[in-house]
Amino acid sequence: MAGEPAADRLAGPVRTCVGCRRRAGQTELIRLVWDGQRLAVSRTAPGRGAWLHPDPACLTAASRKGGLSRAFRAPIPVSEVDRLGERPWAAA
Ligand SMILES: [Zn+2]
Repeated sequence: MAGEPAADRLAGPVRTCVGCRRRAGQTELIRLVWDGQRLAVSRTAPGRGAWLHPDPACLTAASRKGGLSRAFRAPIPVSEVDRLGERPWAAA
């Protein structure tokens, strides 16, 4: 099928990774939530979420380039990103 948008091949909702800004299916990404004090990984927690590839490079980019703060409309302390660790999805 020539000319089909790439997103049509993805099943389910498509989200943009806050790290690399590439679009991906929701099932390929993890969801970070910010409750005003703590950063956590959860697909079900209420509130604003930020979607991220399960890739340390995307987490680092999201923190350093301000993607997280933009997604949550609040400054996210680097210490909270560090607390999640390099592989927060492993503990989710
Ligand atoms: Zn990414």
